Amino acid sequence: MSLLFALNTPSVAIVGRPERFPVNRIYCVGRNYAAHAREMGANPERESPFFFSKPANAVAENGATLPFPSRTDDLHHEVELVVALAGEALNAKGSNLSLAEAKAAVYGYAVGIDFTRRDLQAAAKDKGRPWDTAKGFDDSAPMTAITPAGLAGGVDAAHISLKVNGELRQQGQVSDLIWSIPELIAELSTYYRLKPGDLIFTGTPSGVAAVQPGDVLEGQVDHLETLRITMGPRI
Ligand code: MN
Repeated sequence: MSLLFALNTPSVAIVGRPERFPVNRIYCVGRNYAAHAREMGANPERESPFFFSKPANAVAENGATLPFPSRTDDLHHEVELVVALAGEALNAKGSNLSLAEAKAAVYGYAVGIDFTRRDLQAAAKDKGRPWDTAKGFDDSAPMTAITPAGLAGGVDAAHISLKVNGELRQQGQVSDLIWSIPELIAELSTYYRLKPGDLIFTGTPSGVAAVQPGDVLEGQVDHLETLRITMGPRI
C-alpha cells in the first residue's frame, strides 16, 4: 500500500527510552475535580465528569514556544495529569474494561496543559454547540515526556500545580480526582474501543485563568518531568 502523500504520526518522548510514544487519540475529562467544577458554575454532587476529545496532532513538545492561538481573547490554562495507554491487553480488548484491565492498560504518565479558548467555549455552551474550536486547536495539548508507570510510583497521591511567570495559579491533589484513573479508563472504554497510543487528559484542578503572549507556564506533578511552555506572540 502506498499513500498519496506522507503524513507524520504525532508522538511524544518517553523518559529513559530512545523510542517515542505514537499518539492515537486524545481523550479529555471535563470537571473531574470538584473545586474546578464549582468554579465553572457546576454542582459536582449532581453532575458526573464527562468526556470530550482533541485531535492527536494537538500535542506539542515540552520546552516549546507556542504561537498564541487565533480567534480568542480568553485563552485559559488547565494543567492536567496525562495517562498514556498501551500494552498487549489493549490489543486484545479495548472495550468494557474491568478496573483491573484498566489499571493494566496504563503505560505511563505525563504532565499536560489542556489549553482552552474559554470565550469560544462559553459561546458554544450558550448555544448548545460543539466544543471543538474551543478545545481541539493546534498546539492545544502540550505535554512532557511520558514516564513509564513503573518509574512514576505514587502518582495517584501526587500534588499537581501550575505557575505562570513564577506565580502559583493552580494546585490540587491527584487523589481528589472524582473519577480515579482506573475508573475513568473503564468508563471511557464503555464509549470507545481504546487502543495503544491513546492519551487521557484526566481533568484540571481549580484556578484556571487566562494567559497572555510572553507568559511562561510551568506545570508540575510529583514524580514526573516539569512542563515548561512559553506563549509566543499573536499571529
Ligand atoms: Mn481540561
